[in-house]
Amino acid sequence: MKSVNLLEFDLDGLAAFCEQLGEKRFRATQLFRWIHQKGASDFAQMSDLAKSLREKLAGTAFVKPLTIASEQASTDGTIKWLFDVGGGDAVETVFIPEDDRGTLCVSSQAGCAVGCRFCSTGHQGFSRNLTAGEIVAQLWFAEHHLRKRLDLADGERAITNIVMMGMGEPLQNYSALVPALRVMLDDHGYGLSRRRVTVSTSGVVPMIDRLRDDCPVALAVSLHAPNDLLRDDLVPLNRKYPIAELLASCNRYLDAAPRDFITFEYCMLDGVNDTPEHARQLVHLVRDHVSCKFNLIPFNPFPESGLKRSPRERVTAFARVLQDAGVVTTIRKTRGDDIDAACGQLAGEVQDRTRVKERISTRAPIRIHREGPQGVSETYNKQESKA
Ligand code: SAH
Ligand code: SF4
Repeated sequence: MKSVNLLEFDLDGLAAFCEQLGEKRFRATQLFRWIHQKGASDFAQMSDLAKSLREKLAGTAFVKPLTIASEQASTDGTIKWLFDVGGGDAVETVFIPEDDRGTLCVSSQAGCAVGCRFCSTGHQGFSRNLTAGEIVAQLWFAEHHLRKRLDLADGERAITNIVMMGMGEPLQNYSALVPALRVMLDDHGYGLSRRRVTVSTSGVVPMIDRLRDDCPVALAVSLHAPNDLLRDDLVPLNRKYPIAELLASCNRYLDAAPRDFITFEYCMLDGVNDTPEHARQLVHLVRDHVSCKFNLIPFNPFPESGLKRSPRERVTAFARVLQDAGVVTTIRKTRGDDIDAACGQLAGEVQDRTRVKERISTRAPIRIHREGPQGVSETYNKQESKA
């Protein structure tokens, strides 16, 4: 039997593995608790497991952590780790402490194939999917490392929330994502509630439907534009799954979702998508159609993007249009930007094995609109009138 990394398994997977070793399910549960609740990686430590099982495990399995390439701590308490995942690839994980919670921002891929204009991961291209074990290993390391580092009392948790908002498009790595989510949710694992685990997606419509059926957790959708013409340019996946289809899938998702709203993320780009008219278009799009909240993200600039952060007043004016129309809207606090750990700044180290990077660098620059308070280009108006 080939030796396997036990971090790859959710509890059902581990039970199936233990069955092959001739062991009952409750043994798998014990083992799972040792690994995820106690952070053990050495079978010899697992004192209540039968010696015969520990011996069998030693020959067939291991618990493999990720290799840390670097760690950076921000003045605001945010910590970013760079993990070497082999083959010249490295991914980033960010811990964001707040008074009432500890959030871990987890990566799902080395790079990303979607190629959004405003995202530094997107600009790096795509190398490969992470395995379920590599996704789980980010949490396994962070939780047990932080318990010691923060000197937490027995039973106290360092990580109370997870957001799949690191590098990669989680719904383009579905088969690894789902077992990893199950480990996060399992009472014998990290025991996180479905409301505190968020998958963020640029809008892979068929996989939103599958997630609803397989493992509904909180859903955040990266919208970033109120019409298809602009979204086609900012989030290229929109050409495949346009806004109307995306919103319909959000509504289907809400039937099973642990929260009764979808969070729409909207990255505020100076002169691109940030006028009051864009906000009004958004109101028109969602009000009475999708139960949602907006989270406006101040753009975190990086040199190759050629884009700028919207001025603060424009962000608040934009928020006001949505709020006045009854759409709940918050503005995201930027955390960890002194260590490039803020949204969209995670770049890790990626061997681009596709041509995403090349395609992105040869795209025409986006048109920036600065024409007065309406701020809507003719092109967008044409698109509107077609609708
Ligand atoms: N691929 C997923 C999750 C990772 S990105 C997705 O796109 O949703 C996590 C969030 O950061 C997304 O909302 C994304 O749009 C946003 N983001 C990406 N680049 C950014 C940047 N430079 N500044 C601010 N937010 C950014
Ligand atoms: Fe990929 Fe999300 Fe970045 Fe777009 S914003 S390139 S989907 S990681």
